[in-house]
Amino acid sequence: MKKTSCDIAVIGGGAAALAFSVMVKGRKVTLFEKAPRAGKKLLATGNGRCNLTGLGVSPADYNVPDFVRPVLDAFPPFAAVEFFRGIGLLTRVSSGRVYPYSECASSVLDVLLAASRENGAETVTGAEVTEVRPAGDGFVLTVRMTDGEGSRTEKVGANNVVLATGSPATSGSDSLALFAALGHKVRPFVPSLVPLKTDRESVKGLGGVRVKCAAMLAGRREEGEILFRDYGLSGILALDLSAAVARGEAAAGDSVVLDFMPELTESEVATWIASRDGDVERVLRGAFHSRLAERIAWRAGLTLRDIPDAAAVARAVKHYTLTLEGTLDASQAQVMSGGLSTECFDAQLASCIVPGAYAVGEALDVDGLCGGCNLQWAWASAYAAAGALSRG
Ligand SMILES: Cc1cc2nc3c(=O)[nH]c(=O)nc-3n(C[C@H](O)[C@H](O)[C@H](O)COP(=O)(O)OP(=O)(O)OC[C@H]3O[C@@H](n4cnc5c(N)ncnc54)[C@H](O)[C@@H]3O)c2cc1C
Repeated sequence: MKKTSCDIAVIGGGAAALAFSVMVKGRKVTLFEKAPRAGKKLLATGNGRCNLTGLGVSPADYNVPDFVRPVLDAFPPFAAVEFFRGIGLLTRVSSGRVYPYSECASSVLDVLLAASRENGAETVTGAEVTEVRPAGDGFVLTVRMTDGEGSRTEKVGANNVVLATGSPATSGSDSLALFAALGHKVRPFVPSLVPLKTDRESVKGLGGVRVKCAAMLAGRREEGEILFRDYGLSGILALDLSAAVARGEAAAGDSVVLDFMPELTESEVATWIASRDGDVERVLRGAFHSRLAERIAWRAGLTLRDIPDAAAVARAVKHYTLTLEGTLDASQAQVMSGGLSTECFDAQLASCIVPGAYAVGEALDVDGLCGGCNLQWAWASAYAAAGALSRG
């Protein structure tokens, strides 16, 4: 078994790890990434466009606002834009969401990798950390190295260790056991920002239809785009509502209420319908996708050929109610709720249990809504830890 040592060992080579390796000053960083390449998840973000932050992101968008606040205050969204500008990324803003100017997530990864190398960091791929043990003033990591010739195990000494292993969203696996073994509390991961499963009857025939609307679930109200699926609801609006399920505010059996005309009151919708001549089909097809028009009529207890009952149709337009059955699993989630309990970390993301150990990104029990919140957390948490660990 080979024995080596490094200064700061970062476990993981994703968004938070790469940002940390760019931000830390006066230290030698080694990233251990178990996949054959670093930053793979970044390439899938924002449908391949990478919504790297949102100008309106605030602590209220997260499950633990008080924990997130000082970290975000020290590195707010505009600081993320400046950070990326500083390492060569041009950005563009669309409805408050920040994307690379190229609209290619690969641009974000490319500048991070280049800046990481420039800052002297080394990235070791095919390197899965399987154990972290405190030893003297530092740590010893057990690393399973895998390449074309097979696997071998190495022990690596480090002065500091930063856990940046993310969550099982899409990948299905996590590495929290590394820090749980050191005494950290862990909240089990559950999918968040994930499509919702609903009763099939309410979405019958609507698979693939997109609509801008408002949606309510367990006291939460969001506006945006819903994408109907054969199993329920997807699209940004549904993903944001799913955070209520992940945080235990909503559960199977609750009602999801869609409002297809949020700009108008129910009586204004009824007046509009009453003012129009014709059958339900003619009245509704002027405003909605034909398949949605059919389903609204069904919900109002009418057929497309009936004369519209203005009050019943208005009610169906403003209160289209579906029964929540749950969410899809981690393989379909953008983010997981759960992770290392934030109780065990200070505002610089230093462990209060194991001196010299830090955690950043989604490995911590911090999850945000859509709109760049989760990458903003990755950058801001990396900044906090890098500030604490920099020298000179
Ligand atoms: C499809 C999709 C779209 C998304 N879109 C957006 C978006 O547009 N905007 C936004 O803000 N957020 C988005 N997110 C969420 C965002 O990508 C994550 O919150 C963010 O990547 C978390 O960064 P991280 O560094 O903590 O973890 P990750 O980026 O997941 O990186 C963790 C890394 O650690 C490695 N690792 C794990 N265990 C070990 C181990 N034991 N040893 C070595 N390496 C290990 C993993 O292989 C991985 O590369 C999206 C997520 C998905 C899945």
